[in-house]
Amino acid sequence: MLGLVATLRGSAEAKPPKPMEHMQAANLGTEQHREEQERALFAKLEERKMNALRKQGMGKYVESIPHLEHAFQEGKTESCTCIDERIPGGKVRLAGSGILLSGGAEQAAELLIAAGVKEVTSHEGCGAAALAAKQAHAPDANVYGQEFAKRVAALMSQKIGYPVRHRHIAAAEMRPPKDFYSHTEISKSPGHHPAQAVYYDFTGGFNPTKVPELPLGFVSSRRYVGPETATHDAQLAVKIALGAHGLGKDYFQNGRQVRVIIVARSAQELQQAKAVELAPVMQEFGETVAIDGFVVPRKLLPPAENALN
Ligand SMILES: [Zn+2]
Repeated sequence: MLGLVATLRGSAEAKPPKPMEHMQAANLGTEQHREEQERALFAKLEERKMNALRKQGMGKYVESIPHLEHAFQEGKTESCTCIDERIPGGKVRLAGSGILLSGGAEQAAELLIAAGVKEVTSHEGCGAAALAAKQAHAPDANVYGQEFAKRVAALMSQKIGYPVRHRHIAAAEMRPPKDFYSHTEISKSPGHHPAQAVYYDFTGGFNPTKVPELPLGFVSSRRYVGPETATHDAQLAVKIALGAHGLGKDYFQNGRQVRVIIVARSAQELQQAKAVELAPVMQEFGETVAIDGFVVPRKLLPPAENALN
């Protein structure tokens, strides 16, 4: 990519353009360069973890993490957030807080009431909201995403008789917490999706950004939603990672894979998700993805979650 920037500059010099065109080309070059640097930096920060995972597998890898329990203390926040890896997670994570569900706001409200959610969030630059807005021919995806989350919160309040909040997450809040990367260069929200992992969470509220040893990843909830929805969200996350807003297909080559990590409460759950629920992901993406996972040690689960099903 640096080569491409150099080539663009080279051709600009060879044939002097008009001043305005020249300025635009220079801005584009700088912006491209900045984004390339950002992608490279995140990829480098994640590389060691991803290499270790590829060698050991998640089951072995988590044994070496000293404070894995920090990833399991998020259930209390009782909010619904997007699967996006850049936003602070909540108890339930659904693409666009449920904006892609076939049953719309009604279905989202029912589902989130059953999960005990008290806050529905939307966020800036939401890919799921963009997808839904496009399908509905809505002009502004940001507004569309916010309106959806507000509607879900209002529906929930109506049905259960006490207020459910809506909260919009601004771009400035969309980044891993400061202690996730000890690196000082990451001072703002990344403009792309740097994730190389997708979590498929059976525990509810699993938050990988609380544990620096865990790869940064999208989180698809499975605890409170059925396998179709959770698998669909995991598929969407892999698609984003492999697409133009993620590290992209060119990055995931030569053994580099998007790792789908099942966070299971039992060996049976892990096996079932691997063999059945996530089979469509393997079918769609083949060797570009690896399905991995681990069984959460029982003592790390909140007491209420100890009983299965
Ligand atoms: Zn989103």
